[in-house]
Amino acid sequence: GSSLLEIEDLKVYYDTINGAAKAVDGVNLTVRRGEILGIAGESGCGKSTLTTALLRLTQAPGYIAGGRIMFHRMDGDPIDLLKLSGEELRKVRWRNLSYLPQGSMNTLNPVLRIKEQFLDVMLEHSDMSKREAEKMIPNLLGQVNLEPYVANMHPHELSGGMKQRVTLAMAIALNSDLMVADEPTTALDVHVQRVVIQMLADLRDRLGMTMIVVTHDMAVHAELADRVAVMYAGDVVEVGDVRQIFKAPKHPYTQALINSIPRIGGERVRLAGITGNTPSPRNWPSGCRFHPRCPHAMPVCSEQAPALLEVTKDLNGMQPPLASCHLYTQAGGNDE
Ligand code: SF4
Ligand code: MG
Repeated sequence: GSSLLEIEDLKVYYDTINGAAKAVDGVNLTVRRGEILGIAGESGCGKSTLTTALLRLTQAPGYIAGGRIMFHRMDGDPIDLLKLSGEELRKVRWRNLSYLPQGSMNTLNPVLRIKEQFLDVMLEHSDMSKREAEKMIPNLLGQVNLEPYVANMHPHELSGGMKQRVTLAMAIALNSDLMVADEPTTALDVHVQRVVIQMLADLRDRLGMTMIVVTHDMAVHAELADRVAVMYAGDVVEVGDVRQIFKAPKHPYTQALINSIPRIGGERVRLAGITGNTPSPRNWPSGCRFHPRCPHAMPVCSEQAPALLEVTKDLNGMQPPLASCHLYTQAGGNDE
């Protein structure tokens, strides 16, 4: 499909007393209209920092150190999200972008009925009247399989799974172009995880929503994503069709991630066959940032950063995967 979002050389740094922490450092990534793009990687890889930056929610001491985020919204010209200010941003953020933050069900206000919380969101970020908004609530609850009476309840009267569904219904209330969900299944029990995964897949199928789903949990990507972007050390190291990522991962880091997958809800295991620790954003390794841990490292790997490039030709009609690894470049001497 066509591009909805094009992230170009995005850099998000944090000032620390020991210098800049380059949490996101040169990300290039395209989100296509109507897809679920999974963003994978271990904690500290920069995926949450990337997410908050594209929603323009970066907070000091974090700052955008460079790049563009071109947004091809339905109801206007393409805009660089990084150039919006004040009122424009407030409008775009809810009209065109919606956000399901990590632990969103805990952000419901305990003293307000669900209905009042819907109205707060809907009236703040759109031009609809209170009556129009009220009329939509039962339908929105229905979209996530909740009965209309839920509107009159307080959060403490709902189970965790119901609360997560309420926040999902709020996130779709304004029919935005893109929904970003950060760790939507983390810290939920296995049964509720299943329900949330099914719900997200269903919303995409029925409403054609474009979604970015950020999670360290590869099993969730396997079930939900159309394409997966794998991040390591502040950058995307591989992007591909979900089947390719799981069946034929190209980047050695992706290979290690795939070999370490626990079942849904299971314990995380250490990366299979990979030694050493995740590097620090204050001091990324030279060249390929994975080189100190890579079982295939070559001399060139510590000297030259590999670019994110197509690594194979067409695979059974799938888009060719992109990976940044010298195994697939001239510099790596593996000339195909
Ligand atoms: Fe390993 Fe070199 Fe590829 Fe980096 S560029 S992943 S060190 S082989
Ligand atoms: Mg995170």
